[in-house]
Amino acid sequence: MCFCNNCRKSTGSIGMANSWYSKRRAFKITKGAGALRTYKDHATDSGGTVERSFCSNCGSPMIAENRSKFPDAVIVTYGTMELETGKMWKPELEFFCKRKADWLETPVETVKFHEL
Ligand SMILES: [Zn+2]
Repeated sequence: MCFCNNCRKSTGSIGMANSWYSKRRAFKITKGAGALRTYKDHATDSGGTVERSFCSNCGSPMIAENRSKFPDAVIVTYGTMELETGKMWKPELEFFCKRKADWLETPVETVKFHEL
């Protein structure tokens, strides 16, 4: 979960729930890659540039990449994944918790990072 200003604004919500894939080489878009559009988000809380890709057909945020800080990671938005009931994950990490809504509870096992 990321609660930085940019993730909140790009989702229009309280934060962004993502699945992190640590091996870029193992990640492959199998369908719809031509509809992706990417903008470079330079004004981030971490100081790095985040490339945010979204679907040009529906506007959904799809992928985020922070190549300067996490060169091998691909971050996929949770809401775009087709997960079966019972296979949905709970957050393991939270970032920028100082911007998190105070009414939103964190699962006990989640590790919090106040800043990157
Ligand atoms: Zn963020």
